Amino acid sequence: MALAFDEYGRPFIILREQEKKSRLQGLDAQKANIAAGKSVARILRTSLGPKGMDKMLQSPDGDVTITNDGATILELMDVDNQIAKLMVELSRSQDYDIGDGTTGVVVMAGSLLEQAEKLLERGIHPIRIAEGYEMASRIAVDHLESISTKYEFSATDIEPLVQTCMTTLSSKIVSRCKRALAEIAVKAVLAVADLERKDVNLDLIKVEGKVGGKLEDTELVQGIIVDKDMSHPQMPKRIEDAHIAILTCPFEPPKPKTKHKVDIDTVEKFQTLRGQEQKYFDDMVQKCKDVGATLVICQWGFDDEANHLLMQRELPAVRWVGGVELELIAIATGGRIVPRFQELTTEKLGKAGLVREKSFGTTKDRMLYIEKCANSKAVTIFIRGGNKMMIEETKRSIHDALCVARNLIINNSIVYGGGSAEISCSIAVDAAADRHPGVEQYAIRAFADALDAIPLALAENSGLAPIDTLTVVKSQHVKENNSRCGIDCNDVGTNDMKEQNVFETLIGKQQQILLATQVVKMILKIDDVITPSEY
Ligand code: ADP
Repeated sequence: MALAFDEYGRPFIILREQEKKSRLQGLDAQKANIAAGKSVARILRTSLGPKGMDKMLQSPDGDVTITNDGATILELMDVDNQIAKLMVELSRSQDYDIGDGTTGVVVMAGSLLEQAEKLLERGIHPIRIAEGYEMASRIAVDHLESISTKYEFSATDIEPLVQTCMTTLSSKIVSRCKRALAEIAVKAVLAVADLERKDVNLDLIKVEGKVGGKLEDTELVQGIIVDKDMSHPQMPKRIEDAHIAILTCPFEPPKPKTKHKVDIDTVEKFQTLRGQEQKYFDDMVQKCKDVGATLVICQWGFDDEANHLLMQRELPAVRWVGGVELELIAIATGGRIVPRFQELTTEKLGKAGLVREKSFGTTKDRMLYIEKCANSKAVTIFIRGGNKMMIEETKRSIHDALCVARNLIINNSIVYGGGSAEISCSIAVDAAADRHPGVEQYAIRAFADALDAIPLALAENSGLAPIDTLTVVKSQHVKENNSRCGIDCNDVGTNDMKEQNVFETLIGKQQQILLATQVVKMILKIDDVITPSEY
């Protein structure tokens, strides 16, 4: 603001555009940002680990989600603060790249911020902290590499893969069925994996859910399941050796549009029109039969009359099938999607050994199973559960397990979980701090302390005394030179994570550390926050 005078000597105030904005500078800006980041991390902290709590989130339209998955919690939290949004992004990137470890990465970032705050208060410049963190993260990532082991498995010996997926699932709501779900996830991934090229296309795995039944009824179907039924109840419920026409064009006579003018003033004219429409459709059905189709799957709907005719002419059909599903059906059955009816030929038909309709319980719900497909690469995981929330959470957990299995196929290096990798890194980073003469050593040491946040949170969430437990485990690491000691969350009686079969992928853990460091560095480097203030 500035005070000025007009030509008559009357004072007035000049408000510059900038000053309408609120502004935080220097240390205040950093502290405010750190506080925002920490508050997000604090929310997720209690969800970490096998004994972590779940969160219930209600959307503005009343939908309720109960979940334990970090990325989903943050996604649904609808945060306003920009720094908090960065944390949401952080979890999303981990989810995008790795698929698992989304809670851990945010807890880690929160703890790095907490440590940075202490250093800032001691007068260390944020840039020095950022540099120190960068060095420390590189030391930690290298150390992870050195303590990692190769995990051997093959297409016939899938037990190791199953064990790793079980670790991921053990912290989820669905942990009751972790063995069965882990096996399903591994088999699904192996079905679509190219072990030679070390490539897995997760798009070929369809995850479908239906309310009803038990979680134990969840199954892996070697084919595609579509949440649709035959368009007419009297059509056959089971077609063997099906030749499928996959249509994205309307499967009915062309309808007159509003801009067309059709004058029908006599009964005969109406009947002629009707007859012609019927003939048109009849020709279409004939064409399908001529090329050898025994089933039509169509993206569009057809009216009751057409439906009836299809039933009479014994050509089973399924209508209103979504685009993504059509694509999967085409991949699985080796067929081609036909966008124009004229282009339908025998070569474009998909082939499946069995197409059947299955009904569930006492409901009218039916689903279509397309199995024994020409290309067995597409599979479906069909989830059952008591309610929609359970199914949705199972879908998210299965997604994590699928990602873990995929990551192992791409790179079969693992580190042990339960906080053991973090403790081991913490010791290594702490030792490295002594070798750095500059101010950065404070930041490096702080980084080592921040790594302890994961085992501390795991212990706290399991009802153990956090500091005491960590001290015991840490001394075990040093004394026994054993990097496999972690937090015995489930009270199994040993804290050797190898014996407990608690693994995580090396790339996942490395990514957690790298991503968390990156975001914290970014937050530390902000020294001016200018926001439009409401007035
Ligand atoms: P994220 O979303 O980060 O994967 P989780 O809630 O799945 O978070 O928790 C993962 C953490 O829990 C990892 O550090 C993992 O090592 C640890 N963990 C999982 N199962 C066990 C177990 N049985 N005992 C000890 N720690 C475990």
